[in-house]
Amino acid sequence: MKKVAVSACLLGRNCRYDATNRLDSELMGSLADKEVIPFCPEEAILGIPRETIDIVDGRAIGNESGRDYTDAIEKQAEEFARLHPDIEEVYCKAKSPSCALCSARVYDAKRNLRSHEGMGVFIKKLSELLPHIVIKERR
Ligand code: SF4
Repeated sequence: MKKVAVSACLLGRNCRYDATNRLDSELMGSLADKEVIPFCPEEAILGIPRETIDIVDGRAIGNESGRDYTDAIEKQAEEFARLHPDIEEVYCKAKSPSCALCSARVYDAKRNLRSHEGMGVFIKKLSELLPHIVIKERR
């Protein structure tokens, strides 16, 4: 059975910063014959609810605390890759500073918006560790 990893909020888990989800019914319908491994790196680090994060000068920075969560999120990716090296596909949530493939907002050090096409910190690390996986973004 094909093993796929999915951002947990797309599966209907209320794990977003404001305790909501982004249930993707179409995606859910396509997963019936697959082994699904959910992940939510931000919940694992910050819980629910939590402050929002943005990518600032290449780092994942909390918008209230100013804390740098980059290393903690990358550690989540390392642990996930260690536990699930045989994942074939990842479905990840668009626009997330952790989970996006190519749609996260990216700011420079002065908080000027530089791009809407950034890669989330977790997905970036995971793609480096498991370069064979196919990553698909869901809106
Ligand atoms: S986008 Fe990623 S970090 Fe954000 S709630 Fe969904 S799974 Fe968690």
